[in-house]
Amino acid sequence: MAEALQVVPLRAFKDNYVWTLRDDRAAAVVDPGEAPPVLEYLASERLRLVAILATHHHQDHVGGVAELLAAHPSCPVYGPRGEPIATLTRPVGGGDTVTLPELGLELAVLDIPGHTRAHIAYYGAKMLFCGDTLFACGCGRVFEGTPAQLHASLEKLVALPDDTLVYCGHEYTLANIGFAKAVEPGNARLLERERDDARLRERGLPTLPSTIAREKATNPFLRVREPAVVSSADKYLGRRAGDPAAVFAALRQWKNDF
Ligand SMILES: [Zn+2]
Repeated sequence: MAEALQVVPLRAFKDNYVWTLRDDRAAAVVDPGEAPPVLEYLASERLRLVAILATHHHQDHVGGVAELLAAHPSCPVYGPRGEPIATLTRPVGGGDTVTLPELGLELAVLDIPGHTRAHIAYYGAKMLFCGDTLFACGCGRVFEGTPAQLHASLEKLVALPDDTLVYCGHEYTLANIGFAKAVEPGNARLLERERDDARLRERGLPTLPSTIAREKATNPFLRVREPAVVSSADKYLGRRAGDPAAVFAALRQWKNDF
């Protein structure tokens, strides 16, 4: 009988994760910024690479694709239609479904622009792979889109079920919590999270996956309607920020300077 699906974090560079979905025979990888950790893992576990999934075109997310393809030439490469990724073979966008029969998995593609122009997420089986859009206790920088676009993308993700497991592209959690505490010093859940996540990091373990519920309780970028968050944003700006999208934009700017 086939082993149940597992999601394994492979470390890349300083703080990237290449999330690897696997059973006892096959594997798919999300955002392989570099190939060696993936190739070593596939070889040592004797797994066949059946799909590469990219969330956006940044080099630390797709830089390893060509080398993976050299070793696994028939492996399809999914990624956002409308971003410059030379190695894509299956361009996808919001509303599309990625079917991975070898892993018994179907993933819906969600458009979540803002960090980059056509950033996408993959969502299915209570898992969300969201690249550099939603981070644990934070969110990505606005490089190609607008703060309003990134805010709308996060609103889309926060509407997913509370128990959705959130697999982000980087281990940024503790630094993000530092900023979140500046925004919302009275949030007890945040302090609790800091203790838990610091303990994980001391043991060299990932703080991920998170959950949508945990993000709703502690991530200031998803809490732009909370009075304490609004008041901190107003204080940062020295005036009333205004609607939730404006509160979000203020937080994003503040975080850049933090
Ligand atoms: Zn990025």
